[in-house]
Amino acid sequence: MIRWSQRIESLPPYLFAEIDQKKQEMKARGADIIDLGVGDPDIPTPAHIVEALKRAAEDPQNHRYPSYEGMLAFREAVASWYRQRFGVTLDPQREVVTLIGSKEGIAHTPLAFVDPGDIVLVPDPGYPVYSVATTFAGGIPYSMPLLKQNDFLPDLDAIPEDIRRKAKLMFINYPNNPTSAVADKGFFKEVVDFSSRYGVLVCHDAAYTEIAFDGFIPPSFLEVDGAKEVGMEFHSLSKTFNMTGWRIGFAVGNASAIAALGKVKTNIDSGVFQAIQFAGIEALRNYSLGLLERRRIYEARRNLFCKGLDEVGLRYYPPKATFYVWFEVPEGMSSKDFTAKLLAETAIVVTPGNGFGRYGEGYVRVSITIDDERLAEAVERLKKIKF
Ligand SMILES: *Cc1c(COP(=O)(O)O)cnc(C)c1O
Repeated sequence: MIRWSQRIESLPPYLFAEIDQKKQEMKARGADIIDLGVGDPDIPTPAHIVEALKRAAEDPQNHRYPSYEGMLAFREAVASWYRQRFGVTLDPQREVVTLIGSKEGIAHTPLAFVDPGDIVLVPDPGYPVYSVATTFAGGIPYSMPLLKQNDFLPDLDAIPEDIRRKAKLMFINYPNNPTSAVADKGFFKEVVDFSSRYGVLVCHDAAYTEIAFDGFIPPSFLEVDGAKEVGMEFHSLSKTFNMTGWRIGFAVGNASAIAALGKVKTNIDSGVFQAIQFAGIEALRNYSLGLLERRRIYEARRNLFCKGLDEVGLRYYPPKATFYVWFEVPEGMSSKDFTAKLLAETAIVVTPGNGFGRYGEGYVRVSITIDDERLAEAVERLKKIKF
């Protein structure tokens, strides 16, 4: 009799299990499923990055354990990219740590800062890792609702005084998954003021800063005065360079926070395969290669899909960034019912908004990571369904 820990026994039930099962059944019956559920780029990693990996993989020097904190050359490439892209200066030795994908760093962060009973402020709806990792560390997630009337930014004034005092950490994420909302430096300044007043460490998840449209250039949290005193920022090569399978990302910012996260990691993992770090250096050094084209592809898909939603009469938040569209389910339906109906009647898979937290109820998220032809087919199917 194997007994699971409370920690995992108490995890919320897997919300997508039912949908996954239904999807598998339909697939087995030969249904032509269009999966808009998973946020995983369909476009391959640029060839120059793959070539850099191949070269580095041939070198036996890269076959041994890498350094825990990441090769200095990779961290230097990160610092240099931050200077160019955001005008932010970073010390590659003390203010950058390499991660096995940003999810890894995010998941380990509460272990470095949160003691049992501490409050962690998390966006709701939000990337589920923030609250699960908090719970794993014995902390208590406190939802900051992201509401339409606030453009899906948390209302910091609405956080009660006792919660502010007990809070250790705050996760924010802009451009945002799942809502696609964006933040400007004015919002980041508010966050810096709040967190310096209450001694809350800010963890900004910046996975989508490079996927933006209509000329919008998402800022870094660290562009704001005082941000480095109170926060860190997580970045990933996954979405920027279509490298989700490679597992490489990084955290930058406050040196003491970076050191604490690094200390957790030295006790858990042994760093990122050096050949992948070399490929990461290649990616960051030639960051703009193909970038506009990648943005153009998503922008065209966004236009196509949102036009379809307009025609069907479903309300959505117009995305200025990310590869998600966050739209409202028809009046009187739940996210789950709508998702099930869509799957049953059109063989389209979407993610129910409540899978990202209770304030996601009433919405669904689609990921436009499929080609134009399939996306157009999805729109045609949507038009035929009666709500
Ligand atoms: C995709 C994603 C990540 C994780 O990316 P990695 O592949 O682990 O680097 C982190 N945060 C958000 C919000 C994401 O959508």
